[in-house]
Amino acid sequence: MRYSAWQVIRQGLTGNRGWAPVWRDPAPRPAYDVVIVGGGGHGLATAYYLAKNHGITNVAVLEKGYLGGGNVGRNTTIVRANYLLPGNSEFYSHSLKLWEGLEEELNFNVMHSQRGVINIFHSDAQRDAAARRGNAMLAQGDDAILLDRDGVRAMLPYLDFDQARFPIHGGLYHPRGGTARHDAVAWGFARGADRLGVDLIQNCEVTGISVEGGQVRGVETTRGAIRAGKVGLAAAGRSSQVAAMAGLRLPIESHVLQAFVTEGLKPVVDHVVTFGMGHFYISQSDKGGLVFGGDLDFYASYAARGNLPMAEHVMEAGVALMPMLARARVLRSWGGIMDMTPDGSPIIDRTPVGGLFLNAGWCYGGFKAVPGSGWSFAHLIATGAPHGPAARYRLDRFARGDLIDEEGRGSQHNLH
Ligand SMILES: Cc1cc2nc3c(=O)[nH]c(=O)nc-3n(C[C@H](O)[C@H](O)[C@H](O)COP(=O)(O)OP(=O)(O)OC[C@H]3O[C@@H](n4cnc5c(N)ncnc54)[C@H](O)[C@@H]3O)c2cc1C
Repeated sequence: MRYSAWQVIRQGLTGNRGWAPVWRDPAPRPAYDVVIVGGGGHGLATAYYLAKNHGITNVAVLEKGYLGGGNVGRNTTIVRANYLLPGNSEFYSHSLKLWEGLEEELNFNVMHSQRGVINIFHSDAQRDAAARRGNAMLAQGDDAILLDRDGVRAMLPYLDFDQARFPIHGGLYHPRGGTARHDAVAWGFARGADRLGVDLIQNCEVTGISVEGGQVRGVETTRGAIRAGKVGLAAAGRSSQVAAMAGLRLPIESHVLQAFVTEGLKPVVDHVVTFGMGHFYISQSDKGGLVFGGDLDFYASYAARGNLPMAEHVMEAGVALMPMLARARVLRSWGGIMDMTPDGSPIIDRTPVGGLFLNAGWCYGGFKAVPGSGWSFAHLIATGAPHGPAARYRLDRFARGDLIDEEGRGSQHNLH
């Protein structure tokens, strides 16, 4: 069924009884051309673009839980292309362009809202860094506007400009940045892939990867063995565990990242705003909740929940920037498992095992990457060659010392 305003009216007048399931629920077949491990944003987008761009439709996405139950449905929904370094810059620029046509492409409302991202800075040194980043964004063909203090005040009057512990000097404004409804992105790609013939198989955990003579032959799952000519790993926070099934040791540690949402409030925060003197960022959902987050909990963990010290740290940073936040009641917090690489940048590459491909290391920024990553990973799997904007996301860059270290933190997983 194609979604349209006409369908909404028609179904509304007939008791909403005519909506078809959004995707099929097939049993796994014994063999596929391509198996994708992980039904998150990246796995689903990869399957969609394999079918759409390359005509490869004999594909299964294997998901151990339910589609969209991982980080793709747990993030704070920020979509942006404000990166500095070659490698990241062209990749996220490509991804943002795909976002801008995604709803038409998928015939699905992912509520992509280009409300603008503003990174606040609090010193002359930070202004210089923001100007440099803005120039890199402009050079890449994206948008960036350097705001002075009055410019920020005109747009974000609710921040603390008068008695702030860290006075606001200005902000880097990225108008095309914004947010999207996270789980709708998973559902939209799932529906698109299903319509092109991809089998989306839920409650199917991959428990082993079959390798013979250095070549992948398929996977073992809780629903039986499945043969495959090619296997793509897109298991996000579980990447190290899944890759270990093929004997690979990845340069990844898994850490938990928390997020928070308040009670619904009248519209007040109409951009995405980040604090420059602590790790804190905030936006407001369409339901009115203030959605915010900050740093990783500083220990490796596979528990998708965080601890109170980081909750306190994030609240402190938030109130320092925006004192009225202290009056809002926090309704919920949650966590997701981040696959952190030593340089904070991802991996889209072949592996030493023939036919086994890796998509991992998205750290805390992989939601915005979903369309670009799916496009590039599908290209790699289909052609065997890296896709231009993702060509620097190589697995061997850590051995070669050729890092894409956006934050300049060095190889400290817990500082990215
Ligand atoms: C609190 C929080 C806030 C964030 N905020 C942002 C943000 O604002 N902007 C942004 O760009 N990014 C953000 N991120 C990061 C982003 O969510 C992730 O980088 C991205 O979603 C990871 O890719 P994915 O969607 O494919 O992951 P997932 O949705 O986690 O998909 C991986 C899937 O693999 C499945 N899987 C694992 N092991 C197996 C197995 N053995 N067999 C079968 N299936 C398996 C899992 O069940 C899971 O569904 C945030 C993350 C968190 C947790």
